[in-house]
Amino acid sequence: MSALVHATLKLRKSSRAAFGFVAAAIFGLLPPLGVFHLASTGPSLEQGAVAVAWGVIFASRASSRFKAESAGAGLAWRDLELGLLLLVAVHAAVQLYGGLSGPLYPMVYVLVAFVASFAHAPAGSVMVLLAVAYEAPIHFLTERQQDPKSFGLHALFILFFGVLNLVFTRVEIARVRERSKRELSDEREKVRQNARMFRLVSAPSRGGGGTDERLFTSSVQEVHHQLYRALNLLHRTLELHTCVFLLLDESGERLHIAELVADSEDVASGPFAAGEGVLGAVVRRQLPMNLEHLKSSYKGIGYYSGGIEVKNFLGVPVMQSGRIVGVLCADRTEERPFSAKEEEILSASVEDLLRAMENERVFVQLEHSKREQAQLHRASQALGAALDDEAVMQAALGAIADIAPYDFAAITTFDAETRKHEVQRATGERADEIDGLVFRDNTSLTAMVVKNRHYLPYRCDFDPRQQTVFTRRANLRGMGSLLILPLIVGEEATGTLVLAAHKRQAFGNSARETLTVLANQIAVSLANSAAVRRLEELATTDGLTGCLNKRVFLEELEKKRRSAQRFGRKVSLLMTDIDHFKSVNDTYGHATGDVVLKRLGEILRGLKRDTDTVSRFGGEEFCVLCEETDTRGAVQLGNRIREALEAEVFHTELGNLTVTLSVGVATYPQDADDSASLFEASDKALYAAKHGGRNQVRAAREG
Ligand code: GH3
Ligand code: MG
Ligand code: MG
Repeated sequence: MSALVHATLKLRKSSRAAFGFVAAAIFGLLPPLGVFHLASTGPSLEQGAVAVAWGVIFASRASSRFKAESAGAGLAWRDLELGLLLLVAVHAAVQLYGGLSGPLYPMVYVLVAFVASFAHAPAGSVMVLLAVAYEAPIHFLTERQQDPKSFGLHALFILFFGVLNLVFTRVEIARVRERSKRELSDEREKVRQNARMFRLVSAPSRGGGGTDERLFTSSVQEVHHQLYRALNLLHRTLELHTCVFLLLDESGERLHIAELVADSEDVASGPFAAGEGVLGAVVRRQLPMNLEHLKSSYKGIGYYSGGIEVKNFLGVPVMQSGRIVGVLCADRTEERPFSAKEEEILSASVEDLLRAMENERVFVQLEHSKREQAQLHRASQALGAALDDEAVMQAALGAIADIAPYDFAAITTFDAETRKHEVQRATGERADEIDGLVFRDNTSLTAMVVKNRHYLPYRCDFDPRQQTVFTRRANLRGMGSLLILPLIVGEEATGTLVLAAHKRQAFGNSARETLTVLANQIAVSLANSAAVRRLEELATTDGLTGCLNKRVFLEELEKKRRSAQRFGRKVSLLMTDIDHFKSVNDTYGHATGDVVLKRLGEILRGLKRDTDTVSRFGGEEFCVLCEETDTRGAVQLGNRIREALEAEVFHTELGNLTVTLSVGVATYPQDADDSASLFEASDKALYAAKHGGRNQVRAAREG
């Protein structure tokens, strides 16, 4: 039924999609049939009606195309459809007013050029070809022109216009796209440079995501703002021509303008060599330079490009922790030398400038650690809420993606007994191949990390030709960065966290530190989940045989009986008891008795169906609960169990031993109306089996 609805909907959808093409085909038949050909008296009533119908259809298709624009789907088809409708209309008009050699024909070229430029690929190219093809029947049949030359000429022009526009538009689009991409990356690079200049970051890249960039952009702006305010104040109070704050780059060879306030446009944008002119002198001597009554020919002030005549110049070194980091300069064009007092003011304001940068640096750091802490907090909450391995790994890999975007991630464990590594979970590229991989304790990076309990590789650079992550065959090709962290519990490395990314330097120092904390948490969470699993096993199963214990079995029995009651089904209970087990113990010893019990547990679990429940009910008595099973089926199972145990030979110091089993079977609802009486009934049947000579199965109600 639903398939039918689905098919109907699909048909409706595709017929709606094809509607414009069908309409274009029908209208398209009219011009070649001569409906519009050589109307001497102007348009007729029929032609008018066709035009109105065309207009309605065109308007509806155009509006649906613009609606689809926002969804961005199937636009090429819709463009082609509109293009064809327009082509037909243009040819109708051409036919009405003088035919292919009439005055309206150039509209065909205009249309082709328009569609080629603006339609989505490949509608433009298809349209150009169809425009040529469509003209042939009109030329040869409708207008009965014999001369193929004029058709050829038209075709050539159509192709020419089409191709010209196709190529030009594509090239132009690519150019604009390339330019805006470049502008964007220039802008980013500038922010990064500024952040480095203001010492907001130490390393060129911290391997973070987009949030860092946003943080840096706003911080860089803030520093500019603060610097400008300070310089502007100096500019006005000291009546300067230019006040400029220059900072040395990391190499110490160049001075960049950090901020400036100037009366003229003649200041060059820099950077300037840190060893030249008066700026170089301040940097070298690390002392203020106060130049008075400068000659107009003096060219030593490096930051001017034009012919400004500076009369007085004052430059003070910008010192931070005993090192020179920049120069603060002030100059005047009028004849008024800088006084000692003014020199003092300029030197004092260096502190303000440095403080503005320092504040922002601390702010960036705080923001950064705040974000890291928030990420870690979220991660540990998610890890804390995860109770089993699967949930822990899911939460872990999710949290890591937040901290360091990866293209591949895996969690491996190491079994110290078998000395084997296993990929417990992999995600991302080629995860299917690697998930579940088991490998020996080899020379791979993963094995080394477990051995040394230290992350690898150093600097997180990865070269798959030289380094192996898991095995040589299952290596992470195409990745540029790799980080393998040990999962440590107490003193032991229990496994690893493996992260890889295509781009280089994806895992910076700061990300690695956060991930190390997270890896420790993952290790503890995995250990906790193993402990919970173990406790659960202890609480629900019998230690000797691994079968369910009595408490859990009774709960199961009540649950299954209720469900059988609700759905009107049967449920059978088998109760088994080993024959003369006391004498087995007495003769062969308790340890042998235990071996027999363990083996019986295995036989029971091996023969039962998935939906059956096996329990060691106490001593040497076991119960099997069979859902949707009548007495006959339960007796059959009982006999299979009995025969299997009978066939078992136990080799002991006192010779070979075989044991037999008695089984009692009762079925709900025919033998009992609740769980307690079902027990009673199967116990009675077991008693009957014992009395009947042992090594047999008896049902509560024989027959
Ligand atoms: P019957 O054929 O009538 O069942 O004779 P039986 O000797 O098996 O009698 P019964 O079922 O009453 O015997 C229970 C014996 O099972 C008592 C005890 O020595 C033994 N037994 C109970 N639990 C354990 C156990 O955990 N290990 C071992 N080795 N023996 C156990
Ligand atoms: Mg017994
Ligand atoms: Mg017994």
